Amino acid sequence: MDNRPDPGVPFEVTGGRQKAAWAERLLPPVEQLAGDIWSVPVPIPRNPLRYTLSYLIPGESGLVVVDPGWDSAEGWDALCRGLTEAGASPADVTGVVATHVHADHHGMTGRLKAASDAWVAMHPAERDSLPHHTVPQGEVGGAQSPTDPIGARLREAGASANDVRDLTGLPDGQSAAPRVDLAAPDILLEDGDHLPLRGRDVVTVWTPGHTPGHICLAESSAGVILTGDHVLPRITPNIGLHGRRPGQAPLAEFLASLKRLAAWDDHEALPAHEYRFRGLARRTDELRAHHSRRLEEILFVVEESFRPTLWEVTARLSWSRPWDQVGRMRVAALMETAAHVDHLVDAGLLTRCGGEGRPIRVARPGPG
Ligand SMILES: [Zn+2]
Ligand SMILES: [Zn+2]
Repeated sequence: MDNRPDPGVPFEVTGGRQKAAWAERLLPPVEQLAGDIWSVPVPIPRNPLRYTLSYLIPGESGLVVVDPGWDSAEGWDALCRGLTEAGASPADVTGVVATHVHADHHGMTGRLKAASDAWVAMHPAERDSLPHHTVPQGEVGGAQSPTDPIGARLREAGASANDVRDLTGLPDGQSAAPRVDLAAPDILLEDGDHLPLRGRDVVTVWTPGHTPGHICLAESSAGVILTGDHVLPRITPNIGLHGRRPGQAPLAEFLASLKRLAAWDDHEALPAHEYRFRGLARRTDELRAHHSRRLEEILFVVEESFRPTLWEVTARLSWSRPWDQVGRMRVAALMETAAHVDHLVDAGLLTRCGGEGRPIRVARPGPG
């Protein structure tokens, strides 16, 4: 579990204007990038991620939009402005690719398809997570579904009745949340598949982890790879359990996908949030090191406690703010912790006890 990034390996922010805009809390500009690919920031209203970077890939005949962004009037205007700057309109769009189906990426696909009659493409594992994938407005990546109730997950983890009520009710001041229905694919993209776009060679790289069917897209003649949420320059993507079938190991998948992406170190990384950069080997090492530290921290917390519940482990870990201020992100924190605990159980470093109506507890394996 010890992989520490080598400080000698280079990392360079190439989206300088994006980074400056991020620091000033502004929306970055629409930019034309290497190989005539366009970066279009689409705002996510009332969300700390602030915007999704949509990418426009024009071909000889046709134009593909990758991750149209969160569905809102403001977002639609921003996407249309970006298309105009690239000399196109929504009607010119021939294809839409979702790196994954989180609403901040795939939310506006339906609207764009209706305006253009474009095909919609994603990985089959992402399609498989769709029927249940309706997300309350205002919550990015925190998908809920009728067959996967958050309340049951919270109770099973040992959250108190108060916490369950707090986290399954609507946030203060919000009325009934309209639900967003996400577009189904017309085309499935498996690892190694090329986008149907004449004059371009855009290759699908399957990178499961953040979601089961997350993909990156490499355009090697332009020297770029679109990394979606898989690799971001500053934050670590959430590794949750949503949309998972039994037997899947999201953290192990994510770590393997990170290792794989280091091979594109000579490509500029075009992420779906924050800013562009070079240095995928360095950044993927950092992310792997982050998860190694997390796994070690969980083992330490379990060592220091007597058979803590999953909820107690989550509360004792270090988060970006104190636990009592984590608010509604406690659900994502719990899922993230559960993914790490599963990984440690699979490695034989932890065992689970409880369950069957009682909260799940974790312990170090051993006599007694
Ligand atoms: Zn996501
Ligand atoms: Zn995202």
